[in-house]
Amino acid sequence: MILVTGGSGFIGANFIVNWFSENEEPLVNLDKLTYASNQENLKHLKKSDNYFFEKGSIEDFSLVSALLEKYQPRAIVNFAAESHVDRSISDSNNFIQTNILGTHTLLKASLNYFEKLKGSEKDNFRFIQISTDEVFGSLKDKDPQSSENSPYFPNSPYSASKASGDHLVRAWHETFGLPTITTNCTNNYGPFQHEEKLIPLMISYCLKGKKLPLYGDGSNIRDWLYVKDHYDALCAVLNNGAKGETYNIGGNNEIKNIEVITQICNLLDDLYPKKNGGSYSDQISFVEDRLGHDYRYGLDISKIKNELGWSPKENFDSGIKKTIEWYLKKIK
Ligand code: NAD
Repeated sequence: MILVTGGSGFIGANFIVNWFSENEEPLVNLDKLTYASNQENLKHLKKSDNYFFEKGSIEDFSLVSALLEKYQPRAIVNFAAESHVDRSISDSNNFIQTNILGTHTLLKASLNYFEKLKGSEKDNFRFIQISTDEVFGSLKDKDPQSSENSPYFPNSPYSASKASGDHLVRAWHETFGLPTITTNCTNNYGPFQHEEKLIPLMISYCLKGKKLPLYGDGSNIRDWLYVKDHYDALCAVLNNGAKGETYNIGGNNEIKNIEVITQICNLLDDLYPKKNGGSYSDQISFVEDRLGHDYRYGLDISKIKNELGWSPKENFDSGIKKTIEWYLKKIK
């Protein structure tokens, strides 16, 4: 049995769906069901004997402790978070609550549980913290990609809250011996993502004939990872990752935002041509830049490649096509 938190959000739901397509091991999902969650994506698992859902928050120590006693998981994968940078700028409270205080509470409950385990159950237990490349801060064009040894330089309330959570995870390993592993991942895309995030927002606005709002001059660079590749990487970490280590997970696809949008428009021009002719790229509209907008993120993923044998299977061309086809199927 594994315990997943935040499994009703984008990456968590993909993780759970992929898990049950490959495993029979039971899984329990603890999710607070915030605006970012969507239970529809997991509806088909309701009848499964191996899937359990618990509504609640990682900030609730009694609940988390009771669930750990009840389900006796061999691992915890902590996806639960507030995850949207723009929201963290307009109101940071929930980010501090969940990403810092929630992670702290989850760590305390996990340590109590871990300390009661014995023998191989204790040896094999893992706490996996899902984090982001944003904690490393902004890179310049010529800077080398961030490695696991790069210092944390978070710039937004979101990345600062994730960085704080990660530091607590590290401390619970170093101070108390909790067998933790932290993964830092680049931007994910694929099925089930909330419409407020760049790629689904652009696809949806294209199809609605709305302007495509692009921050600044569109030159900001992100690395993009297809969400199924993230799942595969996390399985490699769960199975073979070393206690106390951190692993970067990325797609080897550093792309300017304007190129991401242009590629979406070009693909939609082919797959779903506009009724009145013209290109979806005519809808692109530059808007005032986000406050403190980091210029570039990029991760060196050689450690996970060399030590755990994982590398991404999708490139951006193949992954974005799959993603757009999935959204088109959904609206038909
Ligand atoms: P998401 O916003 O889509 O989903 C988050 C989920 O967590 C939701 O189901 C929500 O209900 C749940 N949640 C929020 N607060 C909770 C709480 N206090 N207790 C229990 N559940 C709670 O996020 P996502 O995009 O799926 O990201 C998952 C994780 O991966 C996050 O930790 C995020 O920081 C990290 N990450 C995301 C990306 C990305 O591109 N989306 C990239 C790197 C890392």
